[in-house]
Amino acid sequence: MPEFTNPTTFPAFHELPSSTSSAPAADNWFLLAQIKENMTITKTTLVVRDRAGVDFAVTFDDGDHRGLPSNGNEPLRFRKGHTLVVPRATRTDREGEGKKAVVRVPAGQSGGVRVVPGGLEQVLELGQVLAAGEEGVAKKKCAACGEAEEDDGKPLLRCTGCGAAAYCSKACQVRGWSELGHKSNCKVVKSIREIWP
Ligand SMILES: [Zn+2]
Ligand SMILES: [Zn+2]
Repeated sequence: MPEFTNPTTFPAFHELPSSTSSAPAADNWFLLAQIKENMTITKTTLVVRDRAGVDFAVTFDDGDHRGLPSNGNEPLRFRKGHTLVVPRATRTDREGEGKKAVVRVPAGQSGGVRVVPGGLEQVLELGQVLAAGEEGVAKKKCAACGEAEEDDGKPLLRCTGCGAAAYCSKACQVRGWSELGHKSNCKVVKSIREIWP
């Protein structure tokens, strides 16, 4: 699991390498940006916002108005408010006055793109929690009451949705789901764990 506070692994838009530069900043990096609008007319075009609060466009050379870029067999769903993940994203400067730079996903590379079903802030926060091993299972502590798993006791119950959150009892699981907000985090945690196993 990568370090979500690392600006080299998760660069903001202005920190992305230029598409014309030959030396990438790191072996692997991911652009994280919250989807603001789907502007697709012919080519898939999204307006997104990065962690620095900068808005820009992401365009896909794959797909057209009939077919969104697909990841494997499933079409990507670009929901407003969800977080786009583009591995090895680069910035393309466009010729002409007033034309803003964009992130262009070249043909054949949309397969690596993912969408996490949560906002950017939530993704960064939960990513950090997961990277630190603070969520349930890794820490062997109940995510609701904080009680530690005993070596010879019964194992903690694991959330079947995300596989990360763990609880000492059914009652704590129910409390964790509703009162403590795991309901809104579970899908995001699951998605983060799938992208960065
Ligand atoms: Zn508990
Ligand atoms: Zn869960």
